[in-house]
Amino acid sequence: MIGLVKLRKLTFVISLIFIIFVTIPLMEAEAAVVENDIYETTDMQHNWKKYGTDINVFQTDTHEVTYWKNFMRYSRTCNISHEVKTIVYYCGLHDHTKSETFLEEITHSVNHSH
Ligand SMILES: [Zn+2]
Ligand SMILES: [Zn+2]
Repeated sequence: MIGLVKLRKLTFVISLIFIIFVTIPLMEAEAAVVENDIYETTDMQHNWKKYGTDINVFQTDTHEVTYWKNFMRYSRTCNISHEVKTIVYYCGLHDHTKSETFLEEITHSVNHSH
């Protein structure tokens, strides 16, 4: 019977060790997740600083332009492009970025009246 008690004690010790080594890191991991949740959801103060500007031109459409010259009717294809400006901001407090996009201007490759 003494042997059984000893075995039970050993099982108890093993489970105690198990609890210490397994559940504590788990609890820590859970706490870290919660912390991360708060960080993502609450409106906290950011330190947004302009990081860079990127200008891209996209050709979005074409259309035919007709005009008269020396009593002759001419036709040309006009390319419509959109100039889009992207401003990237960097927050040094949390090491993340955000960007804002603006449509700067719409240009026609052919100078014509609309
Ligand atoms: Zn931030
Ligand atoms: Zn045009």
